[in-house]
Amino acid sequence: MTTRVAVIGAGIVGLATARALERRGFTCLLFEQGAPGGGQSAGESRIFRHAHNDPRQFELAVRARRDWKEWEAEFGVQLISPDGAMAIGAESVSRLEKYADDPAVRVREMTPEQVTRALPILAGYDGPALIDDAAGAILTRLTIAHLIESVGPNLVPERVESVVPRPEGGVEVTSSFGSRDFDAVVVAAGTGTPALAASADINIPSEPRAHVRLTFPLASGVREPRLACIQDSSGAFGEAAAYGSPVRGNRSYAVGLALSAEVDSESPEDPLSGLAERTRAYVREAMPGLDPDGAVPFQRWITELPWAADGLAIWQEGDAYFVAGHNLFKLAPALGRTLADSVVSGMVEPGFRPEARLGAPALEAR
Ligand SMILES: Cc1cc2nc3c(=O)[nH]c(=O)nc-3n(C[C@H](O)[C@H](O)[C@H](O)COP(=O)(O)OP(=O)(O)OC[C@H]3O[C@@H](n4cnc5c(N)ncnc54)[C@H](O)[C@@H]3O)c2cc1C
Repeated sequence: MTTRVAVIGAGIVGLATARALERRGFTCLLFEQGAPGGGQSAGESRIFRHAHNDPRQFELAVRARRDWKEWEAEFGVQLISPDGAMAIGAESVSRLEKYADDPAVRVREMTPEQVTRALPILAGYDGPALIDDAAGAILTRLTIAHLIESVGPNLVPERVESVVPRPEGGVEVTSSFGSRDFDAVVVAAGTGTPALAASADINIPSEPRAHVRLTFPLASGVREPRLACIQDSSGAFGEAAAYGSPVRGNRSYAVGLALSAEVDSESPEDPLSGLAERTRAYVREAMPGLDPDGAVPFQRWITELPWAADGLAIWQEGDAYFVAGHNLFKLAPALGRTLADSVVSGMVEPGFRPEARLGAPALEAR
């Protein structure tokens, strides 16, 4: 039996899905309109964290961490830095603390001296702090490069215009080169997913928003042997919530505020320049070990779902599956498997359906 499957979008999620499908013996074409890994998955670093408001997402992150280790073994490289992910401030600490006894994480409380050792570029801080030594910075480019090498021969450099599931089964995919039929289709097109879902009569409630993050060189020009990731909700440095992660080689550090901006194409104002300026001001206060004037901005659309910043769901119509959400990089290996399982079983696991509102803090008690 040959099942022909199309994956639309060669970001981290589409690449992970194509790889998982091929592992299950499916013939798979991967459509990409631009450079693989050049959309939301671009850039040099992402945070892998177990800490999530929704315990179901914590479980998913645990599965993903195992999958990351498998990728590391298969590709023969380290893809997640060993320096951990630190939480400072009450909210970030409480999000991690509740999983502290789970054997999958390695969470420990930190003294101010330990905070400084884990992140020497940080200003003095003596509030609540935890670190998860089983988390860390994802080496994004290395990951994408290895996945492209693995599934690259099946890349189709075409923009898909519509994805129409047929009532009798199968899906018609129309691209810039015409229409083709597939037995099943997975759409992981990032900001392009809602429009393709609309062609299948599915409404994905996600308006793209813009986010900016800046990469700062180390102030002294030296490389620190250890740089943990950070999630800062302390408010100690003038912003309610910020995050940071080291870039491969520890010569620079990427910092962003946990904020995004609505983009009004009618307005002459650039909504991200204000956020970039606030990020620089935060770094001046919080991270004297960085050079605030040497920052390189990186901006992208993000696709948050309305129920949570980490919200994630898979929509299904016939044999077509559409995935949307934010902060998906760390979860991608497990999400790719889940999408491949959906194709195999012909249905989405209930916990990933939109009505499950994966990521919603209101479901914490379940
Ligand atoms: C600045 C920033 C910081 C972030 N930090 C983190 C973090 O610390 N941890 C974390 O886990 N996540 C983080 N994220 C989120 C994470 O990067 C994204 O959730 C993830 O990369 C999304 O991957 P994707 O494959 O779904 O989408 P994308 O990478 O956008 O891939 C979709 C692909 O589909 C293609 N495409 C779109 N439409 C079509 C079409 N019609 N036809 C053909 N191809 C099409 C696009 O060209 C694109 O390559 C961050 C995001 C940003 C922007």
